[in-house]
Amino acid sequence: MTKLYVVVPCYNEEPVLDETARRLKEKLRGLTEAGRITEDSHVIFVDDGSKDRTWEIIQNLHREDPLFSGVKLSRNRGHQNALLAGLYTAKDKADAVISMDADLQDDIDAIDRFLDKYEEGAQIVYGVRSSRKKDTFFKKFTAESFYRLMHFMGADVVFNHADYRLLGSRALKDLFEFQEVNLFLRGIVPMIGYKSEVVYYERHERFAGESKYPLKKMMSFAFEGITSLTIRPVRMIISLGVVMLLISLILLIYFFVQHFLGHTVPGWTSLIVSVWAIGALQLISIGVIGEYVGKVYLETKHRPRFLIDVFLHEDQELYSLTENREDGHSRKNN
Ligand code: UDP
Ligand code: MG
Repeated sequence: MTKLYVVVPCYNEEPVLDETARRLKEKLRGLTEAGRITEDSHVIFVDDGSKDRTWEIIQNLHREDPLFSGVKLSRNRGHQNALLAGLYTAKDKADAVISMDADLQDDIDAIDRFLDKYEEGAQIVYGVRSSRKKDTFFKKFTAESFYRLMHFMGADVVFNHADYRLLGSRALKDLFEFQEVNLFLRGIVPMIGYKSEVVYYERHERFAGESKYPLKKMMSFAFEGITSLTIRPVRMIISLGVVMLLISLILLIYFFVQHFLGHTVPGWTSLIVSVWAIGALQLISIGVIGEYVGKVYLETKHRPRFLIDVFLHEDQELYSLTENREDGHSRKNN
């Protein structure tokens, strides 16, 4: 049996929270009765500095039923950080943690299939939306462009997967080995590795209230994601410089031909050649400096260099050894 925690970040979710809680309770009670999850499974609502009655509702829910727990952040820190806070509190308590949005867009019934995959040995189960029929054209277009852009810029994200996912306790503990401050979950989780599965689900419309991710936030989210994960944009500067240098070499021949044919005014050739060649050299130089800055940047993140899946040693099976784990040693398989 799995001790399951469900983590729900909430920001001004007063209109939906009671309904979300009711449905989650029904689901988890059903799973307990079916003998799939333990009785001490929990739902953790994380109040991300809401300005409405969200925290009051969470307090009431907790008072009425110990199934519900609440975490209140000191102020609004954004969805990713709220989620991370919830995951952190569940880290040492649960066998598996599912993160989902408060607005009931994520299909609660997919939890059964998440658990199926977990029981089959997956440490990470990604919820991927099967279609975006319910989204407006604009939302669909911007969201899908987001995934394409991320991919192009070298951030390895799962297409059409938001933050509806299951993490087993091993993957969860390893997640916290990534010590970067700008933790972009959708990019980091695939870096953890282990057996991962995908569950498809229909994304519903928001039950009530409105989206907290307008275009502006989404764009800054994409920018954060790219710059916190990779230094590929810096590499692109070097490539651009090299391409420009090649173009300038070709143009150089053209300029000289023009010069000797006498089609130019005096001074034009030397001027135009300098503009192109110096421009190209400057781009390459900036790119090279950027490359070193990028290295420093990646070093400061202290990402774990590796995560060991299994360690077979003197007829024991140990797992999850990281070279810079605080306790220094392995944890025994449970
Ligand atoms: N959220 C949060 N802090 C924020 C913004 C959003 O915790 O600053 C939560 C929100 O309550 C919801 C989830 O993140 O549970 C996803 O937000 P939303 O549904 O508004 O995004 P969308 O589904 O429109 O992309
Ligand atoms: Mg939503």
